[in-house]
Amino acid sequence: MTRRALITGITGQDGSYLAESLAASGVEVCGLVRPGDPTVAGLPPVVDPARLFTADLTDVAAVRRALTECAPHEVYHLAGMSSVAASWEDPVGTGHVNGVAAVALMTAAVEANPDCHVVFASSAEIFAGVRAPSYAEDAAIAPVTPYGTSKAYAHLTARVLREHGARISSAILFNHESPRRPDTFVTRRITVSAARIAAGLESHLELGNLDARRDWGWAPDYVEAMRLMAAQERPDDYVLATGTAHSVREFALAALTAAGVADPQERLRVNPEFLRTADAPVLVGNPGKAQRELGWRRTVDFEGLVSAMVEADVARLRAGL
Ligand code: NAP
Repeated sequence: MTRRALITGITGQDGSYLAESLAASGVEVCGLVRPGDPTVAGLPPVVDPARLFTADLTDVAAVRRALTECAPHEVYHLAGMSSVAASWEDPVGTGHVNGVAAVALMTAAVEANPDCHVVFASSAEIFAGVRAPSYAEDAAIAPVTPYGTSKAYAHLTARVLREHGARISSAILFNHESPRRPDTFVTRRITVSAARIAAGLESHLELGNLDARRDWGWAPDYVEAMRLMAAQERPDDYVLATGTAHSVREFALAALTAAGVADPQERLRVNPEFLRTADAPVLVGNPGKAQRELGWRRTVDFEGLVSAMVEADVARLRAGL
């Protein structure tokens, strides 16, 4: 029997990689897209437009219709307001979409089919308020941003529903990047700027906190881990991370170097306007459980990830995009 998966957030970074990966292994892919989403046109060709269901996440009736029509064996709930910075501008909307609507979707999925395995995209930001050398699945939940609180609500409710028999797993995602990351995120802003500096179109790269340290992984590796989670009989929480932190400064210098800029140190400038006081100074995940229980391994390291992003931005610039 052909397996069917519903991906919410299929137009996003993770959703598009996941759609490609599932389709390549013969899984029938359905996707949930926002009404009028202009990015649908950019979806990988493996996605059959006929299997796209239009629904805003907050429209529970439309989400239920999509679940009924797709009848998935597994749901990857990736849709959400994914920017920590933007969550400050709309804490209520962030709570609705990432919190309440996420719980509504997870509940509807297991009501429609109790055997359906739901994988929810939780976030490292749920841990940001407690300093620790690294965070495993049992770390204290202490968010410090509206994004973090919205994810914490859905994460905790997923856990409670699981304890009552629902097949819901949470992927506790640490930062993961790719050339498909929007340029509103610092990593992609850096790689776009590095390509432009190398081409002589910009002189400097302006950033906020150069010392913030993050655990940056390669997005396609993380969607493979989510697939491994969905294939487990028993639902559970898994931290998906590399276990290694790098600073924003290191990311920026690596990107400028990869772009071929001769004097990378001289090109960095701090702009206090970009500083965000609530940022955790360091967030590093411990992927030990995912490695032991899922057999998951990342395939791309920090240098490989920065180079791939820079190469893609250099190519886009050359193509006039
Ligand atoms: P992304 O590229 O921003 O994609 C988010 C997706 O959600 C987009 O397809 C977006 O559709 C959709 N969406 C947003 N609001 C919606 C709504 N109200 N109704 C329906 N769809 C909506 O995010 P990503 O990087 O792939 O991340 C996937 C998930 O992992 C997110 O939940 C994110 O919070 C979580 N996460 C990501 C990271 C990371 O480093 N990438 C880390 C921790 C957690 P549009 O195209 O219409 O905007």
